[in-house]
Amino acid sequence: MRVNWRQIQAARNSYAALTAACELDGFSLRLVDLPKADVTCYSLNSINEQFYCDEIAGADCITIVGGPHATACPAEVAAYADYVIVGEGEYTLPRLLEEIEHGGPGNISGVATRDHHKPAASCVRLDAYPAFSDKQGFVEISRGCPFACGYCQTPQIFGHCMRHRSIDTIAEFSNRYEHARFVSPNAFAYGSDGIHPRWEKIEALFKRLSHQIFFGTFPSEVRPEFICKESLSLVNRYCTNTKLHFGAQSGSDAVLERLHRGHTVDDVIHAVDLCTESGITPVVDFIVGFPFESDDEQLATVNLIKQVARSGKVHVHRFIPLPGTPLAVTTARSLLPETEKVCGSLALTGRLTGSWTDPGIRFFR
Ligand code: SF4
Repeated sequence: MRVNWRQIQAARNSYAALTAACELDGFSLRLVDLPKADVTCYSLNSINEQFYCDEIAGADCITIVGGPHATACPAEVAAYADYVIVGEGEYTLPRLLEEIEHGGPGNISGVATRDHHKPAASCVRLDAYPAFSDKQGFVEISRGCPFACGYCQTPQIFGHCMRHRSIDTIAEFSNRYEHARFVSPNAFAYGSDGIHPRWEKIEALFKRLSHQIFFGTFPSEVRPEFICKESLSLVNRYCTNTKLHFGAQSGSDAVLERLHRGHTVDDVIHAVDLCTESGITPVVDFIVGFPFESDDEQLATVNLIKQVARSGKVHVHRFIPLPGTPLAVTTARSLLPETEKVCGSLALTGRLTGSWTDPGIRFFR
């Protein structure tokens, strides 16, 4: 049976990870630009889904769709795809391919169709699967997040309990290449429960990596309250990156509380100051246009953006009500003229990037 993977830029790391997982069961995923026989797999997020749903509906082959959007809206996706992988794919996708190859109905755990949906019966142990095979990807070191930020799909897909890849397997994959970059919801939470940092685990990991380490920066980030003397000293001692990327999201404590962010504005200011004192450039994410954000709260965010931009860099995004999240059925509020003016002028000086007017752009990076 020939199995294809639809090339989609935003899903390239999923391709690397799932190719490696499927190879363990004898299936190789061939990259295609259009659906082809016998089976074509897709991984879609909630922004790019609109560009692929007609292609999938009209495909002249068996289609399997996974990814954040499929997990958030399985019934909607099952209306145009043959099979939907709900949740993690490493275990479920090879099982489903075996089912299809043997002519079974695909009625297995973690799969939805128009006629049935069996929730996943297990979760993936990262060490049970290679980070990637010959298609290089970033090494996913941790999955799951104990926080529940109102706009975020991560805990809905991977759960609230953090799981980690072992130091041995991270080193095995990272040391194959000159640059080691990692996927994690919060890189500084490596080895911990996601709330109480374990710096000794991170140092033990760094000691096993033999090439250039990029940690707490693209493609992962960290949380502001994890930025402290210990974490900054580890980065300065072992890592190549001179930037740390973390989320502030709002300049209003009331908004942060409604989002269940689990940190305050002071935590963000403290993190920015500590980074600057340590010679590290803070790169800070903000979201504007939360549905419940008052004018004053949005202006508080604008003021914090200006403050951060004096010593660091800022990424600003417009709020998107992603399906499957607590804020799914809300609508982004409008931007104040002051918000647009400040974002525009900081962008012109190179201190700010992002998509504060068009929320979809960041999903295509
Ligand atoms: S935004 Fe980050 S901290 Fe918040 S739930 Fe998502 S992954 Fe966790």
